[in-house]
Amino acid sequence: SKLQDKVAYVTGAGSGIGKAIAMLYAQEGAKVVVSDINEPHGNEVVELIKKEGGDAIFVKADTASAEDVERLVTRTVEQYGRLDIACNNAGIGGTQAMGADVSIEDWKTIIDINLNGVFYGCKYATQQMLKNGGGAIVNMGSIHSITAVPASVGYATAKHAVLGLTRNFGVEYASQNIRVNAIGPGYIDTPLLDLLPAEQKDALIAKHPIGRLGKAEEVANLALFLSTDEATFINGSYYNIDGGYTAV
Ligand code: NAD
Repeated sequence: SKLQDKVAYVTGAGSGIGKAIAMLYAQEGAKVVVSDINEPHGNEVVELIKKEGGDAIFVKADTASAEDVERLVTRTVEQYGRLDIACNNAGIGGTQAMGADVSIEDWKTIIDINLNGVFYGCKYATQQMLKNGGGAIVNMGSIHSITAVPASVGYATAKHAVLGLTRNFGVEYASQNIRVNAIGPGYIDTPLLDLLPAEQKDALIAKHPIGRLGKAEEVANLALFLSTDEATFINGSYYNIDGGYTAV
């Protein structure tokens, strides 16, 4: 197993990509704190992990709340004694509107969850990792960390900023054995996309040279790699996983 005896938390682990990452971490031997704002979904994932013989608990946390994220780290350490891997994955698609029409409330909401939540994760995870000799942080960016997405300026802005966060934390703590990296998935077939009309989903598929959407499990494989000791020289980096979307 690639993560034997490691302790990890995954935010937004009740669904989609976060769920796939939490499951894979557990399959590779990690003790996993499944965190989400959605309690039933989070508990379901814990049950799935236990059914497979893994070790997991659920901790409810709204990543837009610094207090919640701090508590997530505290609870992780209370339960498992340390924190080796922090996957700051939780995010929302947000309301669609052209930039001039975005409400201030919607802007603040998406920045709170998709950007501030990742900062809180980096901050509190790093504090703990410094105490336990290091760790790996994996932040969930997007292809929209490096490309625009019409009618979602808050999403693109937050995801771009996740790269800045990732690079800065990576640089600041590199000498203390903490690695911080980001992943940029293309469009992945998760409940996040269920909100989109079918025509829009087809148009999205067409933007991926590979001719399909990605799978959450494919993204989880990359998150796993960056979390393991196979990736010990990778720090402050960003990896696309997008079926060729950004190569066109
Ligand atoms: P999803 O909607 O399937 O799952 C997201 C999970 O996050 C849900 O369980 C939800 O309850 C939880 N969540 C939402 N707001 C939260 C909050 N404030 N605090 C804690 N948990 C919260 O979405 P997904 O597709 O798995 O997306 C996961 C991440 O991947 C997001 O950051 C998203 O931006 C990113 N991403 C997704 C895609 C895609 O196409 N699906 C592509 C690139 C990046």
